Amino acid sequence: MYLKSIEVHGFKSFANKILFEFHNGITGIVGPNGSGKSNVADAVRWVLGEQRVKQLRGASMQDVIFSGTENRRPLSYAYVAITLDNGDGQLNVDYKEVTVARRVYRSGESEYLINGTTCRLKDVNELFYDTGIGKEGYSIIGQGQIERILSGKPEERRELFDEAAGIVKFKRRKATAQKKLEDERQNLLRVNDILSELE
Ligand code: ATP
Repeated sequence: MYLKSIEVHGFKSFANKILFEFHNGITGIVGPNGSGKSNVADAVRWVLGEQRVKQLRGASMQDVIFSGTENRRPLSYAYVAITLDNGDGQLNVDYKEVTVARRVYRSGESEYLINGTTCRLKDVNELFYDTGIGKEGYSIIGQGQIERILSGKPEERRELFDEAAGIVKFKRRKATAQKKLEDERQNLLRVNDILSELE
C-alpha cells in the first residue's frame, strides 16, 4: 500500500484545486517558509479524521477553510481526498485503489466519503486500524512528536506499539464487547429488582 495522490481544494492556503501525485521512492516537498508545506501534512491528518484543532494548528475547525487573502475571497468549504494503492490488500476492502475524502462547510456541515460513498468517521477509523495510517498512527510524524513520544507517558507509547503490532482492532472490539456485557449486567439487575417487587 502506498499513497498515490492528495487532492486539496479550499483547505488552508490551497484556494485552488491542487493534485499532488506521488510515485515510488521518496518525494520531498520544498518551498519557502510559510508557503504551505506543513499544510499538506495537515490535510492528510484532517482527511483521516483528525478532530483536535490544535493538531491542525488552528483555533477552530473552520480554520481549515481557506480564509481569503487581499486579492481573493474566502471559500465556503474545504475538501481533501487521499488515494491509496491497495494492490497488496492491506486495507480490508475489495478495491485495488481506495480514496478517502472529507469535506466541511462554514455552516459546520461535514461529510466523509470512501470511494465516493458517504460514510461515518467510524468507518474511516476502522479502515485504517492497525495499518499505522490512521490519525493516531505513526505514518505522519509531526514537528516535536518524537520528543513527545519519548517523554510521554508509558501508556501513550504503548498505543504506538499496539498499532504497529496490529492489535488495536482487537482491543477496540474487546472494549465494545465489555461495554455491552456491562449494559446487560445492569439490565439483569433491573429485571431482578422488578421480579423481587412482584413476588
Ligand atoms: P515553515 O517552513 O515555516 O514551517 P510551511 O511551508 O510549512 O512553513 P505552513 O505552515 O504549511 O507553511 O503554511 C502556513 C501558511 O498557511 C501561512 O501563510 C498561513 O497564512 C496559511 N494558512 C493557514 N491557514 C489558512 C487558511 N485557513 N486560509 C488561508 N491561508 C491559511
